[in-house]
This record gives sequence, C-alpha cells and structure tokens, in this order.
Amino acid sequence: MTDRNATEIIREIRDIFDHRGAEWYGGEAVSQVEHALQSAALAEGEAAPPSLIVAALLHDVGHLLHDLPEDVANHGVDDRHESLAAGWLKSRFVRPVVEAVGMHVTAKRYLCAVDPQYLGQLSPASEKSLRLQGGPMSKAEVQQFEQHASFRDAVRLRRWDDAAKVPGAPTPSLEHFLQYVPDTVLGPRP
Ligand code: FE
Repeated sequence: MTDRNATEIIREIRDIFDHRGAEWYGGEAVSQVEHALQSAALAEGEAAPPSLIVAALLHDVGHLLHDLPEDVANHGVDDRHESLAAGWLKSRFVRPVVEAVGMHVTAKRYLCAVDPQYLGQLSPASEKSLRLQGGPMSKAEVQQFEQHASFRDAVRLRRWDDAAKVPGAPTPSLEHFLQYVPDTVLGPRP
C-alpha cells in the first residue's frame, strides 16, 4: 500500500504553494506559483496528458523543499532542485511525472547541444545556472539522453518551463490544475 492518497497529496501541494509560492522565482520576474501555473497552463494548452500537466505544475517543487536562498546560483551553487523534486515525487506519483521532472535540467543541457537557437534564448539567470549544471551536453551524452523513455516528455516540459516567465500572464488557478492529480498518483500496491 502506498501511504498517501490523492486527497492528502493535494493538501500537501496546496500547503507548499501557500507557504512558499509567493517566493521569487530566482532571477526572473515571476513568483514560484506564477511560474508553476504558467508552466501547467502551457502543458494544458498543448493537450498534454495529465502526467505532464502535473509534472509541469510541480517541476520546481524542489526549490520549495529546500532552504537555500533563491539566488543560490549567484553564489556558484547548483541547488540540484530537480533531484530533490524527483525524490519527493517518487513516493507520490507515477513514473512519467517523476522522470519528466527529474530530467528537466538535463533537458536544458540537451537542448543547448542540439538546438543552436535555444542557447541564445535562455534568460540570463538560466544561462548562469547552465554553467553550474554542466553546460551543453557532449555528443555521447545527447545520444544517451535520446534513448531514455521520458526524453521527449522532459524536453516538452523544459520548453514550457522556459516560456513560463511572463510577468502578470493570466492562468487558471492552482485548484484547476489539482484536478489532474488523482489520475497521476501512485495506486495502492497489490
Ligand atoms: Fe522552472
């Protein structure tokens, strides 16, 4: 049996955003909750499956689970927020959610290597963190990444992440996106 059900998980997500959603999204002009809602709205706008909409909503939950300052990249520290998030999601959500989130930073390194325009479009904050995250992938890393079952999901999520930084952009509410959670939580183990 999993020890949490969808209702509890929804409560946890509400609590996290209630407590810390107003925090600034490091180096950008939107808050954490605005960034999360914009990401989820972009996913929903492309009719992505519920697992990817939830992944978009929660992709940066790692930032809200640690106590490092939001400008930590300015101090030369990679907060490894994608691993923190994946660890938290793993006991709650199905694998596609966990993997897309866990790979969304690697997907940035991938896109920097395969899409010449992508690197030029990164925000200054994202460019700075790229260096800490290992820079663009090598050819061998690109080939390896493309073998992964969740690689396309991670790349889609990454593009929504990059686009979800528009100050004041209107989005549906957190409650709207929480309706996708029950379809994406881990079922009870037999
Ligand atoms: Fe993000």
